[in-house]
Amino acid sequence: MAGQRVPDLDDRLIARRVLGERTRVFTDRSVAGALTSPLGTLLLAWVGAAASGWLVALAWLSLINAVEVAIVVLGMRYRRSARRNEEAQRWARYQIVCAGLVGLAWGSSVWFFWADGYYLLYLLNLTVLVGVSGVCMIIMSAFRGATLMFSIGILLPPLVQLAYVDNPYVLQIAAGLLVLFAVQIRYAREVEQELHRELTHSVRNAALVMQLSTARLELHENHAQLEAKNAQLQSALARLNEVVTHDMLTGAFSRRHIFEQLEQQVSIRQRHGATACIMMFDLDNFKSINDRYGHPVGDRALQTVVNTVKAQLRDGDLLARVGGEEFLVLLPMTTGDAAFVLADRLRGLLSETVMHEPAGKIALPASFGVAELSAGEDVATWFKRVDDALYLAKARGRNATVQAPPLLRLAG
Ligand code: GH3
Ligand code: MG
Ligand code: MG
Repeated sequence: MAGQRVPDLDDRLIARRVLGERTRVFTDRSVAGALTSPLGTLLLAWVGAAASGWLVALAWLSLINAVEVAIVVLGMRYRRSARRNEEAQRWARYQIVCAGLVGLAWGSSVWFFWADGYYLLYLLNLTVLVGVSGVCMIIMSAFRGATLMFSIGILLPPLVQLAYVDNPYVLQIAAGLLVLFAVQIRYAREVEQELHRELTHSVRNAALVMQLSTARLELHENHAQLEAKNAQLQSALARLNEVVTHDMLTGAFSRRHIFEQLEQQVSIRQRHGATACIMMFDLDNFKSINDRYGHPVGDRALQTVVNTVKAQLRDGDLLARVGGEEFLVLLPMTTGDAAFVLADRLRGLLSETVMHEPAGKIALPASFGVAELSAGEDVATWFKRVDDALYLAKARGRNATVQAPPLLRLAG
């Protein structure tokens, strides 16, 4: 991932969030520091009072704690601000000013002990200031400006004071303080950069996680939509399949479907020698039913015929509507003689079937042709033979069954 940019992460937005985070870290640490400092300031004031009197000590105590209170109040207000990220710059500036003021307040404690009067206490005071300075560098490292302001603030009073005291170590003390200043500024710079890097990473990662979870959510939604579409497609496909393979009026198979099945039977015959039969039947004088009773009654008659024949067939036998009132039944694994018996039984059944309509009783006789598939025969020839047999049944006066003779093959 090194050096790789995430296209949707706006750099300006990231920079603003990082600044907000830095200000939050800075503010939280400053508040924590300000809340713990009163005890230290009290101790220093108590020792200082011995040298400069209670009035000076009290004035100093009030001054430094006023700044600490300001830091705490500002910190609290910043935490409660609804527009923290947008206003981070302004709040950071307040805290930087406070850092300078608190540094100055700490530094001014050197007025308790003049270096030529209370030398040991003066050195103790300087030691305290060096300690405070180190702690404050950590607290304020979120902003280089804050550490700079604090260092200038805390160093200025001791350096100014050194100009006025008569002590053989003035130069060494001043040089020591300046070296300390330089080391601290350098250190603070590194800590600030490190913090900046870490915060940038964590803000960028948080934004990435946000993007990822949004993307995952979208993916989830898309997936659900796709599933729904797929289900719709499947049911449309099933409906389409139903339309293609079935006759909508009677529920029998379609002409297209039964011819596919006939092709299969021809292949099975060639490969395994298994025989099959077809029977075709056509309703007798059906036109007169339509003419006398109307088309809807004719439709019901067709449905009655299909239901009657279907009830007599075995599993695996297929009934299809191949014309207006012409039907084809495929009987796999059936000989011509057995098919003839079945066809004649069906003919007898239909001739006895009567539809009870308000307009009267309607008989449904039909003529049947039967043809067994011959070896090496194709579908077209097979179908023509059954059609011829049916034609013959019609010619014999209707309500008859005719079995087609086997396919004759002329030698040569
Ligand atoms: P034949 O005994 O020679 O078969 O006489 P037929 O009247 O049955 O034969 P023809 O082919 O002359 O008439 C078939 C009739 O079937 C014509 C048509 O009105 C009717 N028909 C075809 N399809 C439908 C249908 O879906 N519904 C209805 N009600 N009638 C249909
Ligand atoms: Mg007919
Ligand atoms: Mg017909």
